[in-house]
Amino acid sequence: MRPDPAPTEPIEEAVQRLRAGGLVAFPTETVYGLGADALNPLALRQVFALKGRPVDHPLIAHLAWQADLQELLAPWAALDPRAIELGEAFWPGPLTLVLPRAPGLPDELTGGLPTVGLRVPDHPVAQELLRAFGSALAAPSANRFGRISPTLPEHVREELGEQVLILEGGPCRVGIESTIVDLSGGRPAILRPGSITAAQIEARVGPLAPSSTTRAPGTLAGHYAPRTALRLSADPQAEAARLAALGLRVAVLAPLDPESYASALYAELRRLDAEGVDLLVAGLAPEEGLGLAVNDRLRRAAFGSSGGSQI
Ligand code: AMP
Ligand code: MG
Repeated sequence: MRPDPAPTEPIEEAVQRLRAGGLVAFPTETVYGLGADALNPLALRQVFALKGRPVDHPLIAHLAWQADLQELLAPWAALDPRAIELGEAFWPGPLTLVLPRAPGLPDELTGGLPTVGLRVPDHPVAQELLRAFGSALAAPSANRFGRISPTLPEHVREELGEQVLILEGGPCRVGIESTIVDLSGGRPAILRPGSITAAQIEARVGPLAPSSTTRAPGTLAGHYAPRTALRLSADPQAEAARLAALGLRVAVLAPLDPESYASALYAELRRLDAEGVDLLVAGLAPEEGLGLAVNDRLRRAAFGSSGGSQI
């Protein structure tokens, strides 16, 4: 018998690697993910090791479509009606739902919690990969822990080198991580803001619980950080001029409309971080809708960059 021919298609090769417990980076509409078989604990441990991520931070399981949920929790038809409502409204899309988990899921996936985070991504390459793989993929952002999420394939190479196969899919359309909605308790709560806004969620499932009452392991104050100190300002040009007058070398990230700002944010932070200046000054977006999610990422980046506050 002849041996199987070597795979020629990237998707085919990706599926072979994933089935063998390996890792594959792939594009989604939010950021590039570092994919691993969501049901293989050894593969999941490699994700934590490669990212340097604390093991109690749960991973999000990515699925091709709602129907695949059966493996991870109760049959779709028996689900919380709010999950059906939100899934039908926003999937495929940048929304993660936290739901009670099925028994038997690896603790590496759920961080040992009684819940699981699920998402159906809206990117043709992610969809093709998930359909070809035929099961859920855990896919945290394909960067080292605490660093800026990748929105281009070259960012993934900068972060992880040549250690994983990278499926290319151009720049990520949304550019920031998914909105996470917790449906495991009473009233739904937003655990992480994203491009699907609180108002859009409330329009489907009614009033949200105040987010301060919920806990999401892995939503740390310092995250997504450049190496250069980052200062936030409502008037970044004026702030940059003030700092430049003190003799500092400053680069400015000027806000765009919220959608463009979100999709450019991480690539711009990365580009400016490489300029070797003393300080980055970024403009805050309006505190509403998608602007809230952009400012959330900017605040974590500023916190994580630890600096500039004395000047
Ligand atoms: P990401 O960083 O995009 O991979 O998203 C992972 C984050 O999703 C985690 O760090 C948590 O904040 C959140 N998450 C995932 N699953 C759960 C869960 N079961 N319960 C609460 N938060 C979760
Ligand atoms: Mg991340």
